Amino acid sequence: MLKEQIAKLAKENPALQDEILGLIQKKKASTPNFDTLHRSATREIVGLLRWVTWLGEISDLMDRLISLGEINRMGRIEGVPLVSYSLQVDAIRAVVNGSQDSDYQVRITTHPKSGHHCTCLDWKHNSQDVGPCKHVLMLAVETKKRIEEKMGELDLSVAEISAGVILV
Ligand SMILES: [Zn+2]
Repeated sequence: MLKEQIAKLAKENPALQDEILGLIQKKKASTPNFDTLHRSATREIVGLLRWVTWLGEISDLMDRLISLGEINRMGRIEGVPLVSYSLQVDAIRAVVNGSQDSDYQVRITTHPKSGHHCTCLDWKHNSQDVGPCKHVLMLAVETKKRIEEKMGELDLSVAEISAGVILV
């Protein structure tokens, strides 16, 4: 499973693969106890690849959800106040402040099965026919934004790994 994920990731992101190969070559050339460092490097790289793969899967799921968004609802997501936000392995959860000045609990489930839920009336009455309410859509867009920021940080992590900062 992980092997497939690494192969898929390497195919989609040749630059990352080059960084990894470069790192292994560099460690091989510079350290007498290569086996230990190789094991530690492999652990770090596998962790990094799992993390990147997971972020990619969540991002794809958000794209699919946003594509279900009815156009008027997408137009209304701006300015929905986000009270709290949490991205976890099984779900993304948020509390938003609704137009009636009441808080709504919003959830996008990611594992083991994808889905969404909101405590607002629009979701209760229309989510089956019209699709996700504006709170769920807002949460999907917000999650995309946060993942893009994390991917930006990851570029730095890859650079640090190739410079040996994390592994040494
Ligand atoms: Zn809602």
